Amino acid sequence: MIKVQQLTKIYNKQFALRGLDLEINYGQCLCILGPNGAGKSTFIRILATLSRPNRGDILVDGTSVFAAPAAFRRKLGLIAHATFLYPELTARENLIFYAALYQIANPDTRVDDLLKTVGLAHRSDDRVRTFSRGMQQRLAIARAILNEPEILLLDEPYTGLDQSASQLLTDRIVELKTAKRTIVLITHNIQQGYQLADKIAIFREGRVALECDTGAMSELEFQQKYNEIVTAGGKN
Ligand code: ADP
Repeated sequence: MIKVQQLTKIYNKQFALRGLDLEINYGQCLCILGPNGAGKSTFIRILATLSRPNRGDILVDGTSVFAAPAAFRRKLGLIAHATFLYPELTARENLIFYAALYQIANPDTRVDDLLKTVGLAHRSDDRVRTFSRGMQQRLAIARAILNEPEILLLDEPYTGLDQSASQLLTDRIVELKTAKRTIVLITHNIQQGYQLADKIAIFREGRVALECDTGAMSELEFQQKYNEIVTAGGKN
């Protein structure tokens, strides 16, 4: 289990996270919703160990992820606002680079398979800087699942994707859910979040305003609850 305890992050004397508590079970798909500025991206960056909290901790099986962040990172796949791709390298070179980093066996085969999966086989040898936003996002998906991560962190992964790429991403998420991987997904699409998630957390003002299993509430009830909570915030 991943246990988030009293996570606090302060930027320029302003709280981005205000003592956030959350539990994520292994094999669970957690969807995080909430208005802009609620702290969702900050939380995922800290969970990815790309940023440190001012206070609080994230425990995995009782051990802080910040004790051995590199080891924890090897278990992760991440799709964030930054693509973490090298624009001057080709699509294939980017994936080969990350495959080497993750010490993946038979990297050429794995990379070619993934390029096909994300519909970029025909552009494998083109430099990433010549790619559209959506194509870069497709490649970012391939990069994120390259190491068959135990934990996949997705920060608004649907941004910039056309319908076929969105479907492709949903298929991969469902596949990883079936394989009992742990998924944390930030999205603004309540319907999609509700349908993919086992559990939903609504963030507001740096805290979890509501945490519930999707089985405990219908989509409509959830939508109403979301509106109440977000309106009560009086912002956005
Ligand atoms: P969300 O993802 O829910 O939209 P964020 O986590 O991006 O929210 O932001 C939460 C708060 O933290 C916002 O007020 C934002 O301006 C602030 N913030 C986030 N990242 C930084 C940063 N790198 N520097 C300064 N302030 C930041």
